[in-house]
Amino acid sequence: MSLGELALMWQAMAWCFLGLGLLMVFILNLNSTNTLLGLLPLLFSTHVNYLSRKAHPKAYKSVDELNYVAKYITASDIKRFGYCPKIIYFTHVLHLEERVTEAMEYGREIHREKHVQPLIAKIKPSKILRNYELKSDNLKITGKPDFILVTKFNEYIPVEVKWAEEEFKGGVRRDHKYQIGAYALLIDEAFKTTVKRGYIYYLRSKRIVEVKITSSLKKEVRRIIKRIYSIVNDEVEPKVKVGRSKCENCGWRKYCRGGWV
Ligand code: SF4
Repeated sequence: MSLGELALMWQAMAWCFLGLGLLMVFILNLNSTNTLLGLLPLLFSTHVNYLSRKAHPKAYKSVDELNYVAKYITASDIKRFGYCPKIIYFTHVLHLEERVTEAMEYGREIHREKHVQPLIAKIKPSKILRNYELKSDNLKITGKPDFILVTKFNEYIPVEVKWAEEEFKGGVRRDHKYQIGAYALLIDEAFKTTVKRGYIYYLRSKRIVEVKITSSLKKEVRRIIKRIYSIVNDEVEPKVKVGRSKCENCGWRKYCRGGWV
């Protein structure tokens, strides 16, 4: 039995005592001292309940809040953690919204398939899965890659198109690599396969960058998933130092006192 349940049980018993006290006043015609005596346990239990809530707020979460904690995190959360772990605290604990930039708005409207045609022509997939929803009950994550290309050799290749976010010095950004790694884990489980590579298409520079899916990348993504759940469940803002350029381009900067700002 949790601490919260114990305190509530104790409070319910105190209400019973009070009820009995009142009953005795009316039935046995006793004086008001009995009523006051009946009130004492109630006051005491209310105080205990208050102190307990203060010390253990998680024991008193509403069902909705508990369901929220139990909800699966997404591959985008894993990408966000890769950018800065504080973002997980802002989105999943404080429920704050990212500042939407013009580039992000534009990115939502672009026709992604047109831009990945060169990659499709090169890989010649026998099947293309678009915005395929993936979910793992083992890892407790979900994800929806822009495309999954399936070759005639039954190789599964996740592809993600990025407009608002730029590549890193001609290579894939670390947070994007984690996102593709998360898709790889999801695809492995859903299609009983082993993803070996993925691609990120950077629209601004018109570059396709390959991401090699290694066992160490998968291990790192698994570690990140655990870390994200501990931030969400413990509700503690992670202490991190990130580069100045990251903070300058961060959609959560207005809420943030950490980093270099
Ligand atoms: S402003 Fe900097 S420290 Fe704060 S969330 Fe963004 S990247 Fe992280």
